[in-house]
Amino acid sequence: MKPETAIIGSGSETAKRLEDKLAPVRKMLLACIQCGTCSGSCPNAPAMDASPRHLWRLLLTHNGEDIFRSRTFALCSMCYSCTLRCPRGLPLTDAMSLLKQVAAQENLNIYKRSIRFYQSFMESVRRHGRVREMEFMTLYFMSMKSPVIPLKFTPLGMRLMARGKVSFEFPSKGTGKLDALFKKAREIEDPS
Ligand code: SF4
Ligand code: SF4
Repeated sequence: MKPETAIIGSGSETAKRLEDKLAPVRKMLLACIQCGTCSGSCPNAPAMDASPRHLWRLLLTHNGEDIFRSRTFALCSMCYSCTLRCPRGLPLTDAMSLLKQVAAQENLNIYKRSIRFYQSFMESVRRHGRVREMEFMTLYFMSMKSPVIPLKFTPLGMRLMARGKVSFEFPSKGTGKLDALFKKAREIEDPS
């Protein structure tokens, strides 16, 4: 986990807002018996700074700031292994997904890269019904506003192009056919 710095921001209003957002996730985890099966089933656990079991413990003990100091839920690849194996039948993948949504809504600095990566991916899907790799990465680089990031991706991009894995499709506005669907999904995710 990141060192003890303010992740969420100060003020009782912020803490209350976060508590309200975490309450439904906590409710999903109330029956957790801390057996650790989720951690043992998670293919990404070795890369996580806190195991899934640890994350649920933090949630149940109202340590919201520690949850968002960790990158555990950002590394969840939604494989559903933990959900399938949890002896209490808890919706763990959905809980991870909700934590990602809260981090995005709060626009937390330590998740900005993940959030912008995801948003760029989904913007390309919204435009064309599928991801266009070139457009997706262009949108991501533009959102990050850093000349260094594209340079880091250049060797990988060149290798993928040489193998024909990335097509040369330049960014375009798309057809707008999925706009209504995306609007509805946004309303469901964030009714406020
Ligand atoms: S597998 Fe289920 S009961 Fe066991 S620690 Fe994970 S969430 Fe809790
Ligand atoms: S859904 Fe996420 S947390 Fe659960 S096992 Fe898969 S990667 Fe790990």
